[in-house]
Amino acid sequence: MRAMHNRALNAKRLCYTPGCTNYAQNCHVLQKNGNLNHIAEDGFIRHIEMSSKEPSLHFKKAGIHATDVMAFPGFCNACDTRLFLPIESKSLDFTNKTHLLLYSYRAVVCELHKVDSWLMCFEEMKDDTWYDESLRNIFDDMLLMYKLRRNGFVNQQFLLYNNLFNNVLDSAPNFAVYKIAKQGVACSATYFPFICFDEEMVYKALNINPMSYDFPFSHTAVYVHAVPTDGELFVIIGCHKNVTHVETIPIKDLKFLDEKAILVLLSTLFIKRIETWSISENLYNDWSRGSFDKAILNIKTHYLDERITDKYMYNLFNFTSMPVGVYLWEGNNKFSISE
Ligand SMILES: [Zn+2]
Repeated sequence: MRAMHNRALNAKRLCYTPGCTNYAQNCHVLQKNGNLNHIAEDGFIRHIEMSSKEPSLHFKKAGIHATDVMAFPGFCNACDTRLFLPIESKSLDFTNKTHLLLYSYRAVVCELHKVDSWLMCFEEMKDDTWYDESLRNIFDDMLLMYKLRRNGFVNQQFLLYNNLFNNVLDSAPNFAVYKIAKQGVACSATYFPFICFDEEMVYKALNINPMSYDFPFSHTAVYVHAVPTDGELFVIIGCHKNVTHVETIPIKDLKFLDEKAILVLLSTLFIKRIETWSISENLYNDWSRGSFDKAILNIKTHYLDERITDKYMYNLFNFTSMPVGVYLWEGNNKFSISE
């Protein structure tokens, strides 16, 4: 299944710009010039990769100039150059809303591409008699869920595209920007906090045109960017209008977060919500010294498989006596804090 998924991820696709008929080329989720440089050591970083062997997740060492690091076939060369000129030609300005929207736009298209790849897999597998009937039914359900997610991301792309290029600003997300001491992490992603197992609701939502301002789910979308610079880490949390909480934190409290709270929030999003994030070799070494890397991946696997919502928060950045502050998965639905 993962080999099939890799094939789907790399399949030739059209550019995601509405109306463009060119083929997409590989684009970086973070800026081409810089950012990942700031956490790379000798040109290498680590990121999470799924594998067909056990353990299913591992931190893969990867070169930042290779096309597989936080890159995806999203836009053709012309669109990539034209759309992202403001953030490629000079460094990111964290006080400029257009810059933050452009970062978010690219993250949405990246997620859309991932969903399209899964859709391709489930389309193929639901009719493949190599799988027994109960599995094929599960694939059919997954197909439905991913169609719904696709509509959500299509709508988010539509909203951001209009924010950016048609000057429609009332639907734009708001952003909180934090500058904290440098940490060896980077990401640029978006997610929907909703979980929906109600089939009737799914069918209803599938019949709403995603290219409308009324599509319900995308107004709950959250954007998460961790952008390393020379000596600092900028953490950006963007929220559409219906978001009331980011994990356990009410929106109105986002402006009061101190550095530790920001790191806890970022850690929790990495564990529970975001697949595409990178870490430095140094941070990886800190983690692997206490087998902390394996603990992190175990917990992450748990959330990947079951899409659980709970109130646990995590801290991946405390090494005084590892793995302090991380809730460890112990099987049988039991969590405990490892001190
Ligand atoms: Zn294009």
